[in-house]
Amino acid sequence: MIDPSTTRRIPKTARVLVSHAHGDHTGGFRYRGLKQSTPQTRDIHRALHDHRISNFRALDINNHFVVDDIRVKALDAGHMLGSAQFLIETPNKSILYTGDINCIDTLTTKAAEPEHCDILVIEATYGSPQYRFPSRETVYAEIVEWAVDTIKQGRIPCLHVYAAGKAQEVVRLFNVYTHLPVIVNPRLDGVNETYHRSGVPLDWFSSDSRDGKTILEKDPCVYLTTPSDRAHIGRRFSRAYATGWALSLHSRITAFPLSSHADFDQLISFVKACDPEQVFVFTGFAEDLRRALGSKLGLDARAVPSYLQRTLAEDY
Ligand SMILES: [Zn+2]
Repeated sequence: MIDPSTTRRIPKTARVLVSHAHGDHTGGFRYRGLKQSTPQTRDIHRALHDHRISNFRALDINNHFVVDDIRVKALDAGHMLGSAQFLIETPNKSILYTGDINCIDTLTTKAAEPEHCDILVIEATYGSPQYRFPSRETVYAEIVEWAVDTIKQGRIPCLHVYAAGKAQEVVRLFNVYTHLPVIVNPRLDGVNETYHRSGVPLDWFSSDSRDGKTILEKDPCVYLTTPSDRAHIGRRFSRAYATGWALSLHSRITAFPLSSHADFDQLISFVKACDPEQVFVFTGFAEDLRRALGSKLGLDARAVPSYLQRTLAEDY
């Protein structure tokens, strides 16, 4: 079972694979039987949920395991630290399950590599032509410029980002391109530490530490918090979001199109490079992507029924 949302109906002898640490993919960690993910995915899940995971076997990127005549290999998905695609090779067919993918390099992740397969199961979060993201460098520059302008006006830039993945990319962004101290909501703390331990250098202060409080009171700085946190929205804070949904927001909210997902063009190129016989698409704009794969690549794609993920706070 890959990324089950519920543990009901999973046979006791099954093995569960978890592709990455976002909450809509980690239901399988509640399964009592054998579970596998990358060690980073397990550690980020623990940092977010303080949840002990028993009966666990680590599966590193580019490693594989064999069950009977089936070989399962984990490949980098480029979506966040530890995120994996799974390539399942059977004697008859090969199946690639992408999970959530990002096909470009970022400050904290390497692009997902396509892999030739017979059957491809791919996400379609931004699988509609309206989602074509500007270059990463352009978006990075816009975020830094906004933060510096905000500070010049005597205010604190407050960025709302998802606690795992996006937050660490934004911490790294300010570490690399500015000297501004980065203060974070304590919820981001454990995930930052997991990234740091895994070789992504990050420099930050938690807002409940003494240093974090002092800097927030007195010094120019940037504050990062979760999408729904309103605690720091006061007169001194100017807030903005960093999400791919920025391209379709029609409100006066400041939002930057920084996404951990492939955009429409990346998805089409990825499918083309995998050269599958059959494609199944899931989540987001599955129907739009299904149609585009038919018209652009002549592929008979089918949509896997799933919940819709089209809101600002759910850009996992
Ligand atoms: Zn995700």
